Amino acid sequence: MEILKELETIAKQNVNTTLESARSNGKKIMGYFCSYVPEEVIHAAGFIPYRMRAVESPGTSLGDTYFAPSICSFVRHCFSKALNGDFDFLDGVIFMNGCDHNRRMHDNWRYAKIKPEFLYMLPVPHVVSDASTQKYMNEIKKLARAMETEFDVTITARALEDAIILYNKKRDLLTRIYENRKKKEVPIKGSEFLSIMLAITALPIDIAIEKLELVLKGLEGRVVSSDDDLRLFMAAVCTEEIEHMELIENSGGIVVADKICLGRSHFHTLVELKDDPIRAIAKRYLTHLSCPRMMDDMRRRMAYMHDEIKEYNVDAIIVEKLEFCTLMAGETFLYKNEAGKIDFPILSLDRELFGGGTGQIKTRVQAFFEQVRNIKEMSQN
Ligand code: SF4
Repeated sequence: MEILKELETIAKQNVNTTLESARSNGKKIMGYFCSYVPEEVIHAAGFIPYRMRAVESPGTSLGDTYFAPSICSFVRHCFSKALNGDFDFLDGVIFMNGCDHNRRMHDNWRYAKIKPEFLYMLPVPHVVSDASTQKYMNEIKKLARAMETEFDVTITARALEDAIILYNKKRDLLTRIYENRKKKEVPIKGSEFLSIMLAITALPIDIAIEKLELVLKGLEGRVVSSDDDLRLFMAAVCTEEIEHMELIENSGGIVVADKICLGRSHFHTLVELKDDPIRAIAKRYLTHLSCPRMMDDMRRRMAYMHDEIKEYNVDAIIVEKLEFCTLMAGETFLYKNEAGKIDFPILSLDRELFGGGTGQIKTRVQAFFEQVRNIKEMSQN
C-alpha cells in the first residue's frame, strides 16, 4: 500500500519535508516526551506537536559524556541528537516526570545550554484521584501560561475545544485501524502500525488525519498474515525500531495487539468534553491506559493484557525492556507472573535501543516460536 510506504519513510526520519515546509512558512514546532503531555494544549497554542524520538541518532557517544551507562539508551540517544543539533528545528521541548532517566535529560539539556531555549518540565501526578486531577489541571494551566508568555500567544477555550475534536478524531481512526488486527486474516503488521505511529506524531494533525483515513481505507481486503503466523501481544515502553519489529515478524509471527508507548497507550480513551476543556484533557491523560510510571494501576494494565490476548486471539506474549529501564523491569515481572497464572507462553527480551545484537535476538525469537508451536500442536492433539 503506497500510503504505508510513505509513512514508513517519514517514520524513519528525524524531520520530514512536511514539517520543514510548515516551519519555513512560519509555523512553530513543539517537541514533547511521553504520552502524558497533552497535544491539544500545544496545538491550541498554535504549534505542531512533535513527539521526541531517537530515530536517526548519531549513536550514544555524545550523550555518554553526560550520562552514566546505567541510563537507558533511549535517553542517551535523544540527548546525543540534541547535542548534535538534530533538534534545533524545534521551538521548545516539553518534558515530563515519566521516569528519573528522562527527568535527568531535562536537567542536562538546561545545563548544556543547547537548543531550543524553551524547555519546560510538566509534573504529572503518579496516582489518579480527585486531588491529582485538580493538581494536573493546575499544571496544564501553568504550562499554557508559560507558552503564552514565552511566545506571545493566547490559548482560548475555543481553540482547546477544537483541538480536542481533532485529536479525538485521530484517536478514533487509530483505534479503528488497530482493531482491524482482530481479524483472522490480519490486514496490517505490527511493524507497519509502528511506522504509522512514528509518522503521525511528527505531522500536523490535519495531515495526520488525512493519512490515517487513507490507511483505514487501504486495509479493506488486505491480508498480510499467513495461517502459520503466531499472533503476538507485545509490551514495551520506549520502543521505536521498525526493523526490530520486522525481525520478530519475519521470524514467523505477527504483532496483533500491544501495550507500547507508541502503540495503544497513545490513543486509548477519548477526551470527554463536557464543560471545562482543561478538566476534560486532564481527566483523559490521567486515566488513559496507563504507563508503568502510574502507581496503583497495575491490575488494570494486567487486566488489559488478559482482555487483549482473548480478543485478539493471541498465541504468545513478547515483553521488552531496554537495559536499565527500571519501570519496565517491574512491569516485566508482573507480565511474567500474570502469564504464569494461565500458563501462557511469554518471552522477555532485554536490549539496547538501536543496539544491534540482531543475530542473538533472532535466535531467541525463533527458539521461542518453535516452543509455542509445539505447545499449540500438543494442545490440538
Ligand atoms: S526506556 Fe524506561 S528508563 Fe528509558 S526513558 Fe523510557 S521509561 Fe524511562
